[in-house]
Amino acid sequence: MAKLDEKLEAIYTEVLKRNPGETEFHQAVHEVLDSLGPVVAKHPEYADAAVIRRICEPERQIIFRVPWVDDQGNVQLNRGFRVEFNSALGPYKGGLRFHPSVYLGIIKFLGFEQIFKNSLTGMPIGGGKGGSDFDPKGRSDGEVMRFCQSFMTELYRHIGEHTDVPAGDIGVGGREIGYLFGQYKRITNRYESGVLTGKGLTWGGSQVRTEATGYGTVFFVEEALKLRNENFDGKRVVVSGAGNVAIYSVEKVNQLGGTVVACSDSGGYIVDEAGINLDLVKEIKEVRRARISEYVDKVPSATYHNTGSIWDVPCDIALPCATQNELNGRDAEELISNGVQVVAEGANMPCTPKAVHAFSSAGVIFAPGKAVNAGGVATSALEMQQNASRDSWSFAFTEQRLAEVMRGIHDRCVTTADKYGVPGDYVSGANIAGFIPVADAMLAQGVI
Ligand code: GLU
Repeated sequence: MAKLDEKLEAIYTEVLKRNPGETEFHQAVHEVLDSLGPVVAKHPEYADAAVIRRICEPERQIIFRVPWVDDQGNVQLNRGFRVEFNSALGPYKGGLRFHPSVYLGIIKFLGFEQIFKNSLTGMPIGGGKGGSDFDPKGRSDGEVMRFCQSFMTELYRHIGEHTDVPAGDIGVGGREIGYLFGQYKRITNRYESGVLTGKGLTWGGSQVRTEATGYGTVFFVEEALKLRNENFDGKRVVVSGAGNVAIYSVEKVNQLGGTVVACSDSGGYIVDEAGINLDLVKEIKEVRRARISEYVDKVPSATYHNTGSIWDVPCDIALPCATQNELNGRDAEELISNGVQVVAEGANMPCTPKAVHAFSSAGVIFAPGKAVNAGGVATSALEMQQNASRDSWSFAFTEQRLAEVMRGIHDRCVTTADKYGVPGDYVSGANIAGFIPVADAMLAQGVI
């Protein structure tokens, strides 16, 4: 990793010492501090008030036991987390991740990223994240429901529409949000719509929330292409993942004239030179919750690969939409030698520091997750607005609002990178533009 400015290096050393073993959190902090050199040079007041040190320390971290009974009558045990990272700009906001890899270091990396992502949207939301090491894979609906009820039986006392507003992330979609909301309502005896986002459309959810992270990712890339007098027409695109972010990225790329030739799940990847049949992917992944390998049973001209990497597939635009650190230095070199022009992170921190370095050295346009995938949480904030006014907007209006937010984020990244002497650097642009509103709010609100 690159050497930091001296003051920032001291902060990073403190973070390593205070949070041992949390490697993903260290990586996320380093990536932000790496961009803040020009900011501390220009604004000594941030260092004087220990703003950066305080930003790296969550305001509150909650860890709890989640016991539940499986279909065989056995008691199962998981661990639940909610990290309320920063409330300078609004109530804590961020998703819940249910995945066996979840531990405090993952939730803290995600919560930390969320602070700057949420700030970049320009909406009044602070940063937080939560989840559990529960693995929904292979579990029945009844098991998922009992798990969610047990999880909420502890979480309810920490959240609220003006306090902390969870939503989905990996392993948490509409089904889980439904069970969580039902239990919150039952315990509190309050129909508090704004306590969770990602709700169903008939009970307080927002149009476009399901599509928002994927659509927003593609809107961001569209803006980056537009700036260079280009568009998606005829572009060859690879999208990793087959979850919510990947599926709706593919949908929007198709609408804008690009062709997605590959997607993946944790078992392997498929290549379909004719362009991925999205209805089939939706049927396999959303309806049947099955494996992507089944795609080739229906489309014999496509190929399935359970060895190697999806990033070996040549493309103009790469959208990593699966999970953290899924694209490493070797993958980046392969993409570069195959002529990739744009890499935009639909997932949170999918590219390793080596990969990011390789892209920027090779002059590939690289856009980081906290800017690119902010459309999801932005549409959550739109859901909160609708809930607060007991209103519900049309699909077209909500999508237009999302597109405006993404344009705003893209412009903020570009103008901030210019202002701080790093033109074209979306990583620095996003980190600095996300950091400054939070830092200013923290200065204004005193030492808390
Ligand atoms: N989990 C999503 C993210 O990483 C969405 C969070 C939300 O809507 O609150 O930003």
